[in-house]
Amino acid sequence: MLADSDLRNNPYAEQRRKGFRWLRFDAPLEDAYLAYLLQRHQLPRRIGGMILTGVLLCFLGMDIHFAMSHYLPLISPTLIGLRLLCIVFVQVCAWNGEHQTRAASAQIWIINGLAFLSVFTLLSTLLYLPVLGSLGTPVALDTNFLLLIAIFFPIGYSYWNSVKLAAITCLSSWTLIPLYLPSADLPAFLHLLVYQVAAFLGLVGMRYSHDHATRAQFLTRGILNHLAGTDALTGLLNRRAFEMRAEQSLQLAQREQKPVALLLIDVDHFKAYNDLYGHPAGDRALHQIGQLLQQQLQRGSDLAARLGGEEFAILLHDCSAQHAQQVARRIIHEAEHRLAIPHAHSNTASHVTLSLGYGLAEPGETLAELYQRTDFALYRAKSSGRNRVDAATPGSQIPFPFSE
Ligand code: GH3
Ligand code: MG
Ligand code: MG
Repeated sequence: MLADSDLRNNPYAEQRRKGFRWLRFDAPLEDAYLAYLLQRHQLPRRIGGMILTGVLLCFLGMDIHFAMSHYLPLISPTLIGLRLLCIVFVQVCAWNGEHQTRAASAQIWIINGLAFLSVFTLLSTLLYLPVLGSLGTPVALDTNFLLLIAIFFPIGYSYWNSVKLAAITCLSSWTLIPLYLPSADLPAFLHLLVYQVAAFLGLVGMRYSHDHATRAQFLTRGILNHLAGTDALTGLLNRRAFEMRAEQSLQLAQREQKPVALLLIDVDHFKAYNDLYGHPAGDRALHQIGQLLQQQLQRGSDLAARLGGEEFAILLHDCSAQHAQQVARRIIHEAEHRLAIPHAHSNTASHVTLSLGYGLAEPGETLAELYQRTDFALYRAKSSGRNRVDAATPGSQIPFPFSE
């Protein structure tokens, strides 16, 4: 059983606690869910697309067959033309949907494809009424069953979009078809309508429970991933997650030509603190320092991590040298004066103090190179008396070994 403290700052756990009865998450998580849904249903979407194309080709064959046996001027060529257009539109939407980088745009193409399918099917159904009438088979709603299956088929778009589309499709065909149907055929139409309402409600319920289960799975997966990248003591990122995310962040910033600052923080005389006050007190101090560092983050893309032991790191996105220095000084100051954790065996001050090195990424610099320069700045802060900040020198040659 997970403790509440393990789930702090975990948006997935927070959403699970709030619930999602209406099949909607809070904004940033909803976007992530849509992307997950799209990626997870890639195979069913491709299979569904192939089945749909096959069915549409069968219908085209049927159109040609009817045209050959019961040619109606204007209607027959229009029906065949509509069917061909529908096939082309569906393919265009499927292709575009697959080539979008944003999940929201891909969703729009999927909806467009299904909406085209609905409109073309309704138009064909209306045009078929005289053809079917001449054949004495007053079937006018059966293609709607296939449409409902296509709309509710789990291909990676949101539940509410499929419900809305299905409702519009059904309501328009249920109201338009009777207007054009000979009155003698109305009882047969109403008979089919009852089945179709039941099918609609059944599919709405089935897709609800399917989407609910997929959402629950998404949250569980998110909670576990989050835990795997979180330091249990402080709730900050652990080294592995920090390195992964900082690497991505650095690459993104370099592409956008935005400055990125790395701050490395080490607690002074922490071994002596543990020896004097005990390990549990040491843990509490680390937790407080972790919170202090977390409070320095201003943008969603800023990162704070416990790299191990009593060493921490912060990555600030789009941050000038001046701002990085301000944050660094504030951290040092607040640790000593706001946290003010007594440390009787410190040679530096009467409270727990921090030493800090910071550096700004240079163009083309890797995270490892930036880390090395900044670590050397931290080493200088340590060796020149602790409880202070030192800045990494740009492009500096680092003398080895530099650890104390
Ligand atoms: P300096 O000022 O040079 O940084 O000295 P220091 O004593 O802080 O550094 P040193 O590397 O010698 O010791 C780090 C100490 O941090 C040793 C260990 O007892 C403590 N430590 C590491 N991880 C934890 C932890 O998870 N909890 C606690 N309570 N202490 C830890
Ligand atoms: Mg230390
Ligand atoms: Mg250390």
